[in-house]
Amino acid sequence: MENPALLGGARAIPEFSEDLFAWPIVTEEMEQAVLSVLRSGLISGLQITMEFEREFAGWLGTEYALAHNTGTAAIHSALFGLGVGAGDEVICPSMTYWASCLPVFSLGGTVVLADIDPQTLCINPADFERRISERTKAVVVVHYAGMPADMDRILDIARRHDIRVLEDSSHSHGSLYKGRPTGTMGETAGFSLMSAKSFPIGEGGMLVTNDRVVFERAVAFAHYARHAQVLTIPEIRAGAGVPWGGYKYRMNQLCSAVGRVQLRLYPEQMAQIDRAMNHFWDLLEDVPGIRARRPKQGSGSTMGGWYNPLGYLEPEELGGLSITRFCQAVRAEGFTDCAPGCNRALHTHPLFQSLDVYGSGRPTILANARPGIDVRPDRKTLPVSDTAQSRVFRIPWFKRYIPEQIESFALAFKKVARNYEQLLADDPGDPPEMGNWGTSSIVRP
Ligand SMILES: *Cc1c(COP(=O)(O)O)cnc(C)c1O
Repeated sequence: MENPALLGGARAIPEFSEDLFAWPIVTEEMEQAVLSVLRSGLISGLQITMEFEREFAGWLGTEYALAHNTGTAAIHSALFGLGVGAGDEVICPSMTYWASCLPVFSLGGTVVLADIDPQTLCINPADFERRISERTKAVVVVHYAGMPADMDRILDIARRHDIRVLEDSSHSHGSLYKGRPTGTMGETAGFSLMSAKSFPIGEGGMLVTNDRVVFERAVAFAHYARHAQVLTIPEIRAGAGVPWGGYKYRMNQLCSAVGRVQLRLYPEQMAQIDRAMNHFWDLLEDVPGIRARRPKQGSGSTMGGWYNPLGYLEPEELGGLSITRFCQAVRAEGFTDCAPGCNRALHTHPLFQSLDVYGSGRPTILANARPGIDVRPDRKTLPVSDTAQSRVFRIPWFKRYIPEQIESFALAFKKVARNYEQLLADDPGDPPEMGNWGTSSIVRP
């Protein structure tokens, strides 16, 4: 095989069409939908949002959907909906975006971080179970970068310990777990719908649930304008009129109008992305040093819109080549977005160790925890979250199925892996800290 481009060979990726990666795909129908909201003066209304909610719930097959202005807000409301409050513990994987669990602090609860599974990069069920205490109220399951978590085991553990399950489905719109849509298996779920995600509507979030109490509590928390219409449970209705959380999380209707169009387009977009991404991985099936990140064929599990797709590096098969060097060489082949990493583990941030956010005189992570028990995460017990950033690399997120162009990207990875020996010479190794606090701003070395 030809020399790597980094060492003077020809680039594997000559050129490619802009369409291959363009995202979000803004159609004329979306533009018209936004214009009509602007012209009708309904930006702050609810009619279009409620249509969007009905359709979104219909798509997933849930009873309720409640639109929010961000995914973070949807998760905040969902946590409140589940009853998370003073002194409660919520278990969450350490390797995720902060919004999966950080709202717990403002509800008076505390966060207990668990490790992830090296195969899925989602919460490790055994470690989740190990961290359960009599205070554990809920677990947050993140279907990380599109891959469904091991829900059979998680749901079984949660049921046995009477723990409620919140799915953070911000990476997994349309991903299936053994045939079931992610976001429909726990008591509730939150989806980010911001524009970098696989279901982009501008800026927004969606809470879904089949549980009437969760739904009404979420409405009570941050949707006061709907109190009169929605609240029926006497104890909740008694507090109608003012939002319990002191938050106002309504989605603006420019976004819900885009969302309604996006929902109609999504199944076809998702099918095309899935076909393109699976074609890419099929081409790399037997390349040493590289492992596909996707569910087993025929398992009924899928990657949905393949948000932030990643591959695994096995440096042992490449003479110890660093992921930094590997990605540098892939970039030289013409895939300039190739970079190591995923989210940085939350346990390495001072918010989960030492910061006193609310002036309670103690680190916030301890402020509401069981007296005498230190729930601050111990790095040694979170080894997979701690090191995942140097095991995974970004692969192209194809939005279109254009086989010959996809093949040139696969060739880039193949060339680099096959020529690893030549690349070892000037390998700078990895920096001590990798990954970032948001996946959309992965550090490029
Ligand atoms: C993006 C994201 C969120 C938050 O969504 P926003 O819409 O950006 O507020 C929550 N959880 C995860 C895992 C995310 O990636």
